[in-house]
Amino acid sequence: MTTTKRLTPDELLRLKEQYLIPGVYHFYKKPPHLVRGEGAVLYDSENRKYLDFYAGVSVNVLGHGDPEFANAISEQVRTLAHTTTIYLTQPMLELAETLAAITPGDLRKTFFCADGSGANETAILLAQNAKQRRGMAALKNALHGNTKMTMSVTGLDFWRTDPWPIEDVLFAPAPHCYRCPLNKTFGTCDIACATALDTRIRDCDEAPAAMILEIIQGNGGIVVPPPEYFERLKEIVAKHDLLLIVDEVQTGFGRTGRMFASEHFGLEPDIMTVAKALGGGLPVAATIATDAVARKFKGPRASTFGGNLVTMKGGQTVIKAIHNRDLVAHAAELGDYFKEKLLTLKAKHALIGDVRGLGLMLGVELVHANKEPATEHMDTVLETLKDRGVLAGKTGSGRNVLTFQPPLVITEHDVDAVCSILDEVLNGQIED
Ligand code: PMP
Repeated sequence: MTTTKRLTPDELLRLKEQYLIPGVYHFYKKPPHLVRGEGAVLYDSENRKYLDFYAGVSVNVLGHGDPEFANAISEQVRTLAHTTTIYLTQPMLELAETLAAITPGDLRKTFFCADGSGANETAILLAQNAKQRRGMAALKNALHGNTKMTMSVTGLDFWRTDPWPIEDVLFAPAPHCYRCPLNKTFGTCDIACATALDTRIRDCDEAPAAMILEIIQGNGGIVVPPPEYFERLKEIVAKHDLLLIVDEVQTGFGRTGRMFASEHFGLEPDIMTVAKALGGGLPVAATIATDAVARKFKGPRASTFGGNLVTMKGGQTVIKAIHNRDLVAHAAELGDYFKEKLLTLKAKHALIGDVRGLGLMLGVELVHANKEPATEHMDTVLETLKDRGVLAGKTGSGRNVLTFQPPLVITEHDVDAVCSILDEVLNGQIED
């Protein structure tokens, strides 16, 4: 057996600089070389332990190295790994049947691909085709992908790197009560951001085909709109005859304490996209549409790896495990517990301006006394947390929202450990 020499982080950084395009950025001044994982714990090349509270950006819901998941996919690799959709195989159809059963409303017909961007591409294609209109409505600060079309509906400047995005996209202000883009205060605002959306659609020469949105903006900084926003949104899309595409790439599969975040607000989209958690670490994504939308698209459409037997088996195993281990309820309960503890830290540390999120999708916004984003503090906090054995994320348009999206299998004990380390790390910050 040949053994590969394990490279040091510095050696890896040198290779990265030589062989990856420069835009592939990484967290940390001194990034660890991660080599192994078990449950919610990751180990680096020097066998240092990290509590993984980011799960590869909301991916590994069952944690790392889950035996049930590993057995299911390795058995499938040994039996038959790949054929593609031009042949009949069972795991793809079983997973499509499961998705129809667990998604809200009338969502029924699935197209599988390999990543969230691809799933959103298909969603937009289906919507434009069904409505025979080309425009799209989207929200500022949302992120929907890295392809031409999905970046064009991405409103978050940081990730909108295409100098020539497609122009048929109408952007409305994001419902963000802590940093209202319209300088209003929730309670007296009459949901002015929804009114702005309504007005912008009304002012178009031709109504857009669809509105695409994240229920909770993930990369935008874990922003949860008030329920009233969604009530208005339902009226607006109905009034202007738009289809509703809900991007549950980050929020799907128990993350927010419901199977899908749409359920918190009684939303029944025409099209839903999912990815990340579904594959439990394998690249799998899906676009699920109502019969009415799907039937209008005659195709053909294919994705070489969509419907791959291994990823389909992985997806089915993840969903089964979420059910059998009651992980949705666990995420809801532990999320409440975690949020309470973060709110206690907010009362103690002036650097914390806001704590928000649902279930195990939580954000802690770091701010200066004047509420400006504390971006440099954020980087120090993230780095020090890592040095103290905790991996968390960084989101928000000001890159100042400490983000927690841990595996759903974490325990109260893990939450306690992370909060007490965060407390100490924040004690070390000079708060202004
Ligand atoms: N939608 C959302 C909400 C996302 O967070 C992301 C990725 N972070 C995407 C779409 C794109 O997914 P992918 O990176 O798998 O293409």
